[in-house]
Amino acid sequence: MTRVHVSRERNSTLVKKKKAVALRQHGCLACEVCGFDFLQTYGERGREFIECHHTLPISSLGEHGKTNLKDLALVCSNCHRMIHARRPWWSIDDAKAALIGANGSRAQS
Ligand SMILES: [Zn+2]
Ligand SMILES: [Zn+2]
Repeated sequence: MTRVHVSRERNSTLVKKKKAVALRQHGCLACEVCGFDFLQTYGERGREFIECHHTLPISSLGEHGKTNLKDLALVCSNCHRMIHARRPWWSIDDAKAALIGANGSRAQS
């Protein structure tokens, strides 16, 4: 199940589109959960590097289910792993809510 999910997330054209839209909107590609920006941290090697997460459960898509851009979230590798680390998977909002700030206290939002 996880494997199917991940291979769908590698579905290239949509991911490229998603990145292009985010770049145009924000001028950078940052994790939607924690704001991590690969370019800022790793320099050139990190340019346009970010993972894509499907916010809809694959089971609701069916074999030829269409994916919309809005069903994709850009996340860093850490957040992506955490989202899938346990069942039930986190939503982006769950992940944000769980995020513990650098000062060790839970973010209020
Ligand atoms: Zn992140
Ligand atoms: Zn995912």
